[in-house]
Formats: sequence, structure tokens, C-alpha cells
Amino acid sequence: VQQPAPEPVDFAIAIHGGAGAIGPKPPGEEQAYRNSLEETLAYGRDLLDSGEKALDVVEKVIIRLEDDPLFNAGKGAVYNHDGNHELDASIMDGYDLSCGGVAGVKTVANPITLARMVMDLTPHVLLAGPGADAFAGEMGVDPVPQEYFHTERGHQRWQKHLKELEEERHGTVGAVVLDRYGNLAAGTSTGGLTGKRFGRVGDSPVIGAGTYADNGSCAVSCTGQGEEFIRLAIAYNVSNRMKLTGATLLQAADDAINRQLQPDTGGLIAVDAQGNLVVIFNTSGMYRGMADSNGLFEVGIYRE
Ligand code: ASP
Repeated sequence: VQQPAPEPVDFAIAIHGGAGAIGPKPPGEEQAYRNSLEETLAYGRDLLDSGEKALDVVEKVIIRLEDDPLFNAGKGAVYNHDGNHELDASIMDGYDLSCGGVAGVKTVANPITLARMVMDLTPHVLLAGPGADAFAGEMGVDPVPQEYFHTERGHQRWQKHLKELEEERHGTVGAVVLDRYGNLAAGTSTGGLTGKRFGRVGDSPVIGAGTYADNGSCAVSCTGQGEEFIRLAIAYNVSNRMKLTGATLLQAADDAINRQLQPDTGGLIAVDAQGNLVVIFNTSGMYRGMADSNGLFEVGIYRE
């Protein structure tokens, strides 16, 4: 799905709440997802309208999705094989390519904010495991116990995984933004895959795989089977294809998702410097929304 901007746009935003095998839902549950996507999208749009910067909007929007137990990020993060929660996130500023990520954190309610701290307050790009949790403590982030991430649904999926040893996914969150000043930013946050091995790190905290932003091309946030996204460096792949070949955002994203990626493994949201928005996935569904300053405002779940 592409939304070409008919007239110049002042700002644009896309959000996602994960891609995967999303089967038909009971109406109440579907409505809950739609409401959450709409509220978060409206929140991000209004922040941009009032002049907030791309990076701040990405962080704030993702915090909201992390706090929402419907999604597999922050509260509601999936269980790993051992019954614990390990969270991954990253954020990137398209203005100067500054970026930060955290992998495998266990005590942080909002990993996207910790990723931002890695970006703003350290010379590093990615902190992992106990070192990342310790950094959070040093920065004054209040630790949460593992139970904070518990949801009944997450627990049930884990139980199912233990019986069938399947890696279930969907519910990762992400945002991409063009602000009024022409800057792009992207961020992604996840609990990873249900039943993942202790220590497994997916694409979401890896700059270039799950997240990328460059004012000279686009901002991208991915979701799906992280190993495939790392293998193909999908987020950077899209950005770099635009730069090297002059492809449009839609052409570059279509090539990555529909020609390079294994079928049924995921999707991405992206925005370019002109405010063109792209939502693309090769799974049965993707929780998503996009809005811009020209009045575009839509959310979706299934393939339309
Ligand atoms: N990409 C995430 C991971 O592999 C999962 C997802 O997007 O659903 O950790």
C-alpha cells in the first residue's frame, strides 16, 4: 500500500504494531486494536502538527505502544523459552545518522527510551544484556520486575510454544516520521519471538536491519522474522537502494519485501523526505496506521 503525497506535505507518520499470521479476530478484540492504533496515530499526528521534532515523536509514540499490553513491546512483551522477557529496541535520527539500540533488557519498561539514551548519552550504538540494564540503572531509570511484562495472552502463547515448540510472532511496534523541519526518524521496539532462545537477539535493536533513517532517502521500521531481516539488512537495504539506484521508496520497499525476503516473513513501514508513506508486508496481516498533514488518516490490520 502506498500513499503518494498529492501535494507537498508538512509532516507524515506511519506506525506499526507487528506483522504476521493475523487470523480473523472476535469483533471486540479487533476493535481494541483499531482503537489503539487510531489513538496512537492521532497522538503522533497532533504532536507533529504542533511542531514536535521527528525523533521525539518516534519515541513518544513508541512509548505509548510499549505501554499498551495489546502489543509485543514493553508491557505485553512475549515470553522466551525459559519463561522470561527480554526486550529489544532501537531508534535513529535521519538528520545526522545518530542512533542507539538495546538488546535483551529485562528490567526496563520502555526500551525505546533506553535506546535513545544510548544514542544521546554514550559513544556507543548498541548495548546488550546485563550491561544495558545496568546502564538503565545508572541513568536513573526505575527498574520493573519481570512480572510487569506479564499478560495472560503472552503466558498462554508461551504454554502453547512449550507444547508445540513453535516460534510465534507479531505485535512488535514501530514508528517512522517526517517532521515539519524536513527531518526523518525511525524506531522499533519488541519482546522478540515467543519461545526464543535465551540470549537470542532479533532485528529490532540492530540499526540497518530493523530500523534505519537517513534524511537523504527514507526512514524505515521493520517487523517479522528477525533473522531474515538481519540477513538482508532490510531497513538499510531500502534506504541504500533509493540512494544508489534512484528508486522510489515504493520500488525499493517492494523489492526488499516481495523479491528478497522469504515469503510470509514480515513487512515494514517507511516514509521518505517528501512525505510519501509506504506500508508493505508479505504476511496475512500487519497492524498499522498512517497519517499526514494533508488529512490522510487510516489504520488497518488485514490485507485489503
Ligand atoms: N522482528 C522481531 C524479532 O524478530 C519480531 C517481530 O517483528 O514480530 O525479534
